[in-house]
Amino acid sequence: MEKVNIPEIFAEDVFTDAVMQQRLPKSVYKQFKKSTEEGVELDLATADVIANEIREWAIAKGATHFAHLFQPLTGITAEKQDSFITAPKADGSVLTAFSGKELIKGEPDGSSFPSGGLRATFEARGYTVWDTTSPVFVRHDAAGTTLLIPTAFYSYNGEALDQKAPLLRSMQVISDASVRLVNLFGKNAKSVVPSVGPEQEYFLVDEQKFLQRKDLIYTGRTLFGAAAPKGQELDDHYFGTIRQRVAGFMKDVNEELWKVGVTSKTQHNEVAPAQHEIAPIYANANVAVDQNQVVMQTLKRVACAHGMKALLHEKPFAGVNGSGKHNNWSLVTDYGENLLEPGSTPHENKQFLLVLASIIKAVDKYAGLLRESAADPGNDHRLGANEAPPAIISIFLGSQLEDIIDQYVAKGSANTSIEGGVLTTGSTALKDISKDATDRNRTSPFAFTGNKFEFRMVGSRDSIASPNIVLNTIVAEAFDEASERLEKAADFDKEVDSLIAEYAKAHKRVIFNGDGYSDEWVAEAERRGLPNLKSIVDATEVLASEDVINLFDKYGVLTPAELKAREEVKYENYGKVINIEALTMIDMATKQIIPAVIKYTKALADTVVAVKSAGADASVQAEILSEVSELLKEAKTALAALKTVTAQATEKEEGVVQARFYNEVVFVAMDALRAPVDKLEMIVDKEAWPMPSYGDLMFEV
Ligand code: ADP
Ligand code: MG
Repeated sequence: MEKVNIPEIFAEDVFTDAVMQQRLPKSVYKQFKKSTEEGVELDLATADVIANEIREWAIAKGATHFAHLFQPLTGITAEKQDSFITAPKADGSVLTAFSGKELIKGEPDGSSFPSGGLRATFEARGYTVWDTTSPVFVRHDAAGTTLLIPTAFYSYNGEALDQKAPLLRSMQVISDASVRLVNLFGKNAKSVVPSVGPEQEYFLVDEQKFLQRKDLIYTGRTLFGAAAPKGQELDDHYFGTIRQRVAGFMKDVNEELWKVGVTSKTQHNEVAPAQHEIAPIYANANVAVDQNQVVMQTLKRVACAHGMKALLHEKPFAGVNGSGKHNNWSLVTDYGENLLEPGSTPHENKQFLLVLASIIKAVDKYAGLLRESAADPGNDHRLGANEAPPAIISIFLGSQLEDIIDQYVAKGSANTSIEGGVLTTGSTALKDISKDATDRNRTSPFAFTGNKFEFRMVGSRDSIASPNIVLNTIVAEAFDEASERLEKAADFDKEVDSLIAEYAKAHKRVIFNGDGYSDEWVAEAERRGLPNLKSIVDATEVLASEDVINLFDKYGVLTPAELKAREEVKYENYGKVINIEALTMIDMATKQIIPAVIKYTKALADTVVAVKSAGADASVQAEILSEVSELLKEAKTALAALKTVTAQATEKEEGVVQARFYNEVVFVAMDALRAPVDKLEMIVDKEAWPMPSYGDLMFEV
């Protein structure tokens, strides 16, 4: 087998800092670093030199094109490709060129992306601006090799139309607030960076089967489908042996990712059949967000090369687990201190405890906003649907930290930390091992896992930008509020303790260490006054609340107009998604399922007649025929109802009213059509059913 040498191939397709240092004149490299670190504009002459070096480097890698990569409010990445070709000279020959201007600024049509009213169709101008903090790289695919430049996307008037601009703003905000806080503890921090490690779940299905399902093609999920005889009940897929076809796919995914500098690290089978996970090593939030987009694209591209399709939808199949993304988040100073590292005796680590208490406060205060940051249409099938995790935001701290918080609530300070102890293996062949101070909790949406928080609500298809924008900003506000008090305090140590105690008391309600999937928790959370925003529509309404508008405005992360635009995009996008799903169901039911069932009833009726005329008992055949006919009628009625409400939806007032109608009426009508069809699938001859079943899709990859 061909050997793979990770250090040798790692980042070979990235214009890394090392490559830059090697290729650029010293003064130009210095200018570039200065501009990146201090956010000052690059002058065109310097940009020209850099662009030229990038072009030569990229062309040596085989590149013919370049593209600004940006993340419009669609949750995915967009790009427009240009080749390096120049206009022919007098003798008809051409050259390649790439200017500094082309590197730092692009002008895609700003009107064809969702803008929530910030742009009208006639106001087409939009700009992409090079983000020098995320590296340039080349991608090899069927189109050849393309130089890709990470950028932020703005309207002509300077409003952010994407995810990156507010993310970068929020990173500045959390850096400033963290520096302010830790320096009060005698540190000398200059900057603080949020570190993010996203764990990505996905399904793999056979491409030929995928292509026989219009629902998968148009919506990314199955809209019909009876459960297979086997699901995930045996727990035999999770961490199980990876099938060879899938293993071959994973090998190629890893190699592609390593080459573009993504530190692909962990891979395993997930809980549901045909479900898998991939996770890189954490990176700074901006790079992590960009690289997660690369991971999603790579999964899709490599799957195709292996005759499979990667499903990134949050709920491709009913009845088995859906897919999410765990957003691991921590804060690291320029000198390498992780502010979320409790140390071995956390009760003595006052800075950590204040950081922790501030985060608890922020998450409780902005629980609705955090929930909203994970809202996308597909995620509605997970959150609030009795599956990982619930739609209620709560924090898992583990026994050690919860005990310390309890001590603060009870007496205003803490003087002990529970220790982990030893795990006794009970065998002389195995050494006893020391345990973590805290067990894990898989059901918590926001869990402390040792030296980071893990936000588990994010949808598998969604960008992780929003959750990180929210985390950075809400925590920055909490840090600033603490700093303000500390700066005025006569007795610093005493004030630290009273802040921790105050926050612990006021926000203890958001801490929950129990089973987040249980009905008792839903009732208990309601008693505690915690929001339970079940749908994307409920969640999006949070964006219109005054404290959220003020928060983003105060920190300059999103202006009220930019926020309003995001709210509108969310409603609009949701309506469109449900509309496509409804139309796809109507199409499949009308053109495929009902005709197939009619054919089948004809065959059954013929059988009944034939069996009877042969003088035998046809009662079983007749019974099946009437059962099928009954369900067919039910399906036909539900189909008519779905058509009616889908048409009505388009007439509704755009925004929350229309989104709510899709959620409460159309979505419900879709379920009503699905129910009889799924029953029919269980009765009708497999040969007669017009598409692959759940069993075919999930167990025969
Ligand atoms: P889990 O905690 O879910 O078992 P890991 O410890 O392997 O899994 O981490 C999951 C993800 O969290 C990985 O992407 C990992 O790099 C990332 N991660 C680990 N430590 C940190 C940290 N301090 N800050 C942010 N992300 C982290
Ligand atoms: Mg995890």
